[in-house]
Amino acid sequence: MSAANPRIAILGFSIECNKFAPVATKAHFVARTYLEGDDILVEARSTAPTMLPEIPGFVAAMGAAGEWNPVGIALAMTEPNGAVEHGFFTEFCDTVRQRLKAALPLDGVYFCAHGAAITTEEDDPEGVLFEIVRGIVGPDVPVVATFDLHANVSDRMVQEIDAFIGYRTNPHLDMRERGEEAAAVLRELLAGMKTERVRIRLPIVPPTVTMLTAAGPYAEMIQLGQRHMGPEIINVSVMGGFAYADTAKNGLSVIVTARNVAAGTASSAAEKLAREIAQYGWDNRARFYPKLTPLDEAVAKARAVGRDPSRPALCFADVADNPGGGARGNTMYLLRAFHEAGVQGALFGIIYDPPLAAEAHRHGVHYNFEARFNRDETTNFSEQWTAPARVVSLHDGNCVGRRGIYAGTRLRLGPCAALRIGGSTVVVVSHRAQCADPIFFEMMGLDIAKARSVAVKSRGHFRGGFDQFFKPEQIVEVDLPGLTSPMLNRFDWTRLPRPVIPLDDNVAWSPPF
Ligand SMILES: [Zn+2]
Repeated sequence: MSAANPRIAILGFSIECNKFAPVATKAHFVARTYLEGDDILVEARSTAPTMLPEIPGFVAAMGAAGEWNPVGIALAMTEPNGAVEHGFFTEFCDTVRQRLKAALPLDGVYFCAHGAAITTEEDDPEGVLFEIVRGIVGPDVPVVATFDLHANVSDRMVQEIDAFIGYRTNPHLDMRERGEEAAAVLRELLAGMKTERVRIRLPIVPPTVTMLTAAGPYAEMIQLGQRHMGPEIINVSVMGGFAYADTAKNGLSVIVTARNVAAGTASSAAEKLAREIAQYGWDNRARFYPKLTPLDEAVAKARAVGRDPSRPALCFADVADNPGGGARGNTMYLLRAFHEAGVQGALFGIIYDPPLAAEAHRHGVHYNFEARFNRDETTNFSEQWTAPARVVSLHDGNCVGRRGIYAGTRLRLGPCAALRIGGSTVVVVSHRAQCADPIFFEMMGLDIAKARSVAVKSRGHFRGGFDQFFKPEQIVEVDLPGLTSPMLNRFDWTRLPRPVIPLDDNVAWSPPF
């Protein structure tokens, strides 16, 4: 062990869990990214890694800053889904324990977390994992962690690590930068810098669509934090959280990591800044209520642009059926309504329906058949629907993301089919993913620029992928039923802290310090 060539453990557990969605098993992680040991480094250094870009960014920045000795531990990362099957989580914890102990002595740890995981038995799996890590490496080895902006933050998630680094953009376009930031912070910690974390949680569980970072109250909180960065402040993270995890730790949180603070004495600058940002959020609480477009209005808009090519095309977001929030990506409300209304020139994507994609592959291009959607589905909201269809094109679903959150990421959507159904062309896939990247249409030979309307199963990440086609004013967020509806009063919550905005009246708050 030497400071000149520090041994740094790299591990991660990253999934966003919607308690109302079906359970996520080890197979879901294996299908996306499950790696142990130095396979993590091999994959992180490949040209199009399957993992999100935090670890690749961290690894590149650590290497660029000097000598180091990375030690891959374990990484389990997958698309948002339901709660993680607890047996797999226990197995993962055991793997982390064994490999971390075998890797000792270590000089530092980087943990890539999402922050909104739950298991079928545990509401704070990240906290459990951080305790395990801290217990093995001891109090003096620096541990740095990165988080998705939708993290639900517990006290131990803040206290068991030395630096809390959350995404600052939504759509998440700064994942790699946050990994690079983690490397820079870890280098400072290795050189002897000490930190203290200050954290304030508000009784606000913001609906997903109110957490954009281009504009709005959440964007203003993040900007306020960034404007007040100073020599004493190493990071300001404003975590919006993920409502559908339904945990006691839900709630908009401000976490400030302060530099060179004696242990146990919170920096007054960090406290002041956290308080100021939290107060700003509280003062703007009335702006954390969603405004969506009713289905009939959305259909009327789609009909109008379909008839009149001189009007700007529109992008319809089915925010309630977002696979990026654990939904299935297969509800029929919007497609069926467009079909019944005779909407022309629409693209729909991406609908998760493996049996239908397989059937289209058996039939081949140009074949006409009755497309039966959701033939095997029993999930709430995923209704069966049948319509006459023609196979337009087929694809094996292997692609590299082109733009937005998936840019440069290797993706496997399984067998895919484009089906012409009335005035719409529908992309059907075999692995669930959020429609955040134009590549999902383009690889099927479909021209987004020629479409009159494009309907996406996505809450907000489509904004980072489709911005070259649609300005914000061309986007219509449609109010539909679904597992990720921003209308939070439609869910049966059991664990959310109450009273809370936007569910309750008479919610009170005052700064804790
Ligand atoms: Zn997120």
